[in-house]
Amino acid sequence: TANGNGVTTKPPPSSSPLRYSKYCQSNLRILVTGGAGFIGSHLVDKLMENEKNEVIVVDNFFTGSKDNLRRWIGHPRFELIRHDVTETFLAEVDRIYHLACPASPIFYKHNPVKTIKTNVIGTLNMLGLAKRVGARILLTSTSEVYGDPLEHPQTEEYWGNVNPIGVRSCYDEGKRVAETLMFDYHRQHGIEIRIARIFNTYGPRMNIDDGRVVSNFIAQALRGEPLTVQLPGTQTRSFCYVSDMVDGLIRLMEGDNIGPINIGNPGEFTMIELAETVKELINPEVTVKRVENTPDDPRQRKPDITKAKTLLGWEPKVSLRQGLPLMEEDFRQRLGLSENKVEA
Ligand code: NAD
Ligand code: UDP
Repeated sequence: TANGNGVTTKPPPSSSPLRYSKYCQSNLRILVTGGAGFIGSHLVDKLMENEKNEVIVVDNFFTGSKDNLRRWIGHPRFELIRHDVTETFLAEVDRIYHLACPASPIFYKHNPVKTIKTNVIGTLNMLGLAKRVGARILLTSTSEVYGDPLEHPQTEEYWGNVNPIGVRSCYDEGKRVAETLMFDYHRQHGIEIRIARIFNTYGPRMNIDDGRVVSNFIAQALRGEPLTVQLPGTQTRSFCYVSDMVDGLIRLMEGDNIGPINIGNPGEFTMIELAETVKELINPEVTVKRVENTPDDPRQRKPDITKAKTLLGWEPKVSLRQGLPLMEEDFRQRLGLSENKVEA
C-alpha cells in the first residue's frame, strides 16, 4: 500500500501484534542514542527487561546523565558510551532508537547551531550506520513539526505551520529535515525506518530546571513557590506519561508501519488547568502567577491518535491525574526534600 508519500509499505496492520510478539523472542542488539536522557533512560529500562536484548547507549550528556542509567552500569547486556552523534559511530546493531537531541526549549535554544547540527548531521550519521549494518532505525520526531497548528487535533497528514527563521526553528525545522532524511534514505537506499511524532511527555527523571511546564510546576509546587503560568494561559498541550510513550515507541519499532505516527495522550489541558491540577494534587497551598511567554509558542496541541490505535494497537493508559503524583517522590529526592530513598 502507498502511504501518501510515494512509499510502499508492507500491508497488514493486523500483523503488527504478531511482529510485536516476535520481538519478545529474538535476540536483538539495540542502540539508543540519547539514552541517558529522560525518555531514553525509561526506554532503556524497558528494553533491558527483555533478557534477549543487548543495549548500547550513546550520549554526550548535554542534558542527560549517567545517574538515569545507574542501575544498568556494569550489567553484562549493557554498554554506555560517551559520544556525540554529530560524529560518526560504528557498531554492529539490529535496531537504532535515535533520540539524541535536547528536547526542552531552554536547552535547544542555548546553542541553536549545535541543535540543528544534532538533528541534521546526527540523523545523517545514524542513517549511515543503519545503512552500513542493515539496522532498522526509529527517529523520535516531535509534535513541533506541526508548528502553531492551523488544524486541530493534528493528524499525521497535516503539513504544519512552522516559522523557518524563529528561535524554535533549530528544533522544529531540524526535526523536519531529520524526517526528510529518514524518508530519503528509505526511498533511495531501502533503509527500514520508523518515525514517531512525540507529543509532550512527562514523568520521573525530567530535568528539574529545564523550563518544561510539567517539571516547572511540580518543582515549584514542592518548593512552595508560585506556579508560573505563561500568558495567555489558555494555550493547550496534551501530556503523555513516559511509560505509555515507551510502550508506543517499542510497538512502532517492532510493527510494520513506517509512520510518521503520532504518539501522545489526546487529553488536552490549558496551562491554567494544568496549574490548578498540580496545585490540587501536589500542594494546595501554592499560588498561581501569570508571567510573560516566549516567542512562537503554539496556542494549541492535541494528537489525533487514530493511526497509533489502529496500526499499533496502542493507546495511552495513564491519565494526567494518575501520572502527576508518580513524579512527586523522584522530584522530592532530587530537590533534597525527602529522606526516603526510592528508585525512579
Ligand atoms: P532529553 O534532553 O532528556 O534527552 C536527550 C538526550 O540526548 C540527552 O541524554 C542528551 O544528553 C542527549 N544528546 C543531546 N545532543 C546529543 C548529541 N549531539 N550527541 C549525543 N547525545 C546527545 O530529552 P527527552 O525528553 O528524553 O527527549 C528525547 C527525544 O524525544 C528527543 O529526540 C526529543 O526531540 C524527542 N521528543 C521529546 C518530547 C518530550 O516531551 N519530552 C516531545 C517531542 C519529542
Ligand atoms: N509554560 C508555562 N509555564 C512554565 C513553562 C511553560 O505556562 O513555567 C507553558 C508554555 O508557554 C507552553 C506550555 O507551557 O505554552 C508548554 O511548554 P513546554 O516548554 O513544556 O513545551 P512545548 O512548548 O515544547 O510544548
